Amino acid sequence: MDKLAIVVPCYNEEEVLKLASEALRGVLEDLVRKEKIAPDSFVMFVNDGSRDRTWELIEEEHAAHPSRISGVKLAGNVGHQFALTAGLLTAKDMSDVVISIDADLQDDVNVIEEMVDKFHAGNDIVYGVRKERKTDTLFKRTTAQAFYKIMGIMGVKTVYNHADFRLMSKRAVEEFSKYKETNLFLRGMMPLIGYRTDCVYYDRKERAAGESKYPLKKMLALAFNGISSFSVKPISLILGVGMLIIFVSALALIYALISYFTGHVVPGWTSLILSIWFLGGLQLLAVGLVGQYIGKIYIEVKQRPRYNIEKVIAAEETGDEENRKGRDELEEGCV
Ligand code: UDP
Ligand code: MG
Repeated sequence: MDKLAIVVPCYNEEEVLKLASEALRGVLEDLVRKEKIAPDSFVMFVNDGSRDRTWELIEEEHAAHPSRISGVKLAGNVGHQFALTAGLLTAKDMSDVVISIDADLQDDVNVIEEMVDKFHAGNDIVYGVRKERKTDTLFKRTTAQAFYKIMGIMGVKTVYNHADFRLMSKRAVEEFSKYKETNLFLRGMMPLIGYRTDCVYYDRKERAAGESKYPLKKMLALAFNGISSFSVKPISLILGVGMLIIFVSALALIYALISYFTGHVVPGWTSLILSIWFLGGLQLLAVGLVGQYIGKIYIEVKQRPRYNIEKVIAAEETGDEENRKGRDELEEGCV
């Protein structure tokens, strides 16, 4: 049976930690009873340099439930995406399948069973997807929607309305560990891994307790990181605008010449206006062109895996002993 690890990043979560521990332990007990996961499955709390009593509470939970609760203490605050990565990479060596979930119980723990079922049905990644955003403010809803739209236009593959609540098989985490980049945007990276994937749908609830650790500033930073880490399209955009302006300068040339010959212009205007348009366009074009190279360097520097081989079917050897012997001898003779 597969051993499940539930990874929970925690930053100043003293108010919800006990609640989260209780809820997740409940889910584990239930799944163990139904024989869907191994009896030694566990929860791993990752303390992301909290300034409150979060780590003490994790230690207390571990003391009370040593076989169910484990903890990872990061030396300082590194942010949600890094904390989660630390947890995933630590947990993968101790388990067969991992699920990541926030500490605040906004994601529905009751769909974990469905995730595990879909894993058993042969999926390597199962995304938790919110059905609707009833509990979010209008502002958060519209900005989030705009974000997914822009990501799509920029050519970044993401799962719509999926945050970081997901199941990953050991081999999926193994593949993920080959991505060495530092600008992490996990939900953009997962679709690059490949394998069979599926989704489960749930209603996102209000935070169980405490406050959001993602103020607008952090949200915008994450959004910008998501685009800039996955797309060099903004650079192509500069190139495009440069070309457009050069084209416009050609039109301006015609217009300026006509005006010049019909005699409606102040002396010096023609040469001035043409220079402005043409040089502006030329500069943008040049910047865009240089940018194309920088974009390529950027992609090279990431050193992402270029492919992920899922399976190889090797051609079987034929029983043509005679032939092979002859070949072996030949090879020996060549050395
Ligand atoms: N978190 C973290 N480090 C941080 C900020 C947040 O580990 O620097 C964790 C936090 O404890 C929670 C998860 O990331 O488990 C998501 O944060 P939050 O629920 O505050 O974000 P929101 O749901 O409001 O977007
Ligand atoms: Mg939350």
